[in-house]
Amino acid sequence: PLVLGIETSCDETGIGIVRGRMLLSNTIASSMDEHARYGGVVPEVAARAHLEALQPSIDAAVAEAGVRLEDLDAIAVTSGPGLAGALMVGIGAAKALAVSLDKPLYAVNHLVGHIAADILTGEEVEYPTVALLVSGGHTSLLLVRDLVGDVELLGETMDDAAGEAFDKIARILGLPYPGGPEIDRAAAAGDPNAIRFPRGLSRASDMAEHRYDFSFSGLKTAVARWTEQAERDGADLPVADVAASFREAVVDVLVTKALDACARHDVPRLLLGGGVIANRRLREVALERAAAAGVAVRIPPLSLCTDNGAMIAALAAELIRSGRPASTLGFGADSTLPVTEIQVAAPV
Ligand code: ATP
Ligand code: MG
Ligand code: FE
Repeated sequence: PLVLGIETSCDETGIGIVRGRMLLSNTIASSMDEHARYGGVVPEVAARAHLEALQPSIDAAVAEAGVRLEDLDAIAVTSGPGLAGALMVGIGAAKALAVSLDKPLYAVNHLVGHIAADILTGEEVEYPTVALLVSGGHTSLLLVRDLVGDVELLGETMDDAAGEAFDKIARILGLPYPGGPEIDRAAAAGDPNAIRFPRGLSRASDMAEHRYDFSFSGLKTAVARWTEQAERDGADLPVADVAASFREAVVDVLVTKALDACARHDVPRLLLGGGVIANRRLREVALERAAAAGVAVRIPPLSLCTDNGAMIAALAAELIRSGRPASTLGFGADSTLPVTEIQVAAPV
């Protein structure tokens, strides 16, 4: 099926068009720059930016795909989780398109969309797989037995998301927003073992009871204390060493838990997604340790890992392929939509 997907859960206005498992276009407009001076995404600013970016983005995606709106078989949209106001803008646009074009509308889960992105790489995808989604808004470890039918939450962050932790530490170190790429760059010249920062909730006993939740607030506090102490001592802050040691702690926790989940559930596959996957050390450590553990790692290209509309369209295309009926139009934004709800407002 030819599907147009709309994604507006955070600060990316993503419009993607797929034909089945084939990617035709993936337009992404980000309001990141507008949030930079606030040091994080401002919901109202994001919603307004979506409103402005949507129509031009749809036009661009349709032109790039070389299709006409009338030719679409379905529209797809993210209904949650995410920022309520931002989601509402995308949902409104999707409903308007679906009604005016008389096309079926599929309302889908953003997190499951991240997993669906992998389908568009053109390689054979196998389930079950463990999936680690790490971005500015989420840190989730999932067990995917069936993309359109069975996604289980193994754990998620109790406080900051991984990307958020990068952004906050960057601020402490005087680096600009978004902090992830800045810390990655600074860390390249540092020693990852210079300072032993805490690895939250990652002892074997933490994971023993099938608990794969994450916590980065203790790490954040530890870095803040360490830098304050360095300042009191009047020493020059070794930014590279702090960045490298912090990054190592985050990466260690993420990879340790993901691979532990693979072993526990006897699943030799790990899918990585979300904007933090851009982190070079994370990719390196994940690939190294997974190879040693006999786990195959999949990392889609970054344009499919960060928030985008193509992954939303891809998930809807899979729902259609499985014969699922379209969503009924009464649904709204659900900022805390659980990952088990793959499609929203599906008629029973
Ligand atoms: P959502 O959580 O809804 O998926 P988001 O916009 O918060 O959306 P992404 O756009 O997927 O998240 O990713 C942005 C986050 O990724 C930011 O927090 C940024 O600091 C982080 N990030 C980007 N590059 C890197 C990197 N090289 N290392 C670590 N973190 C990174
Ligand atoms: Mg973003
Ligand atoms: Fe996301």
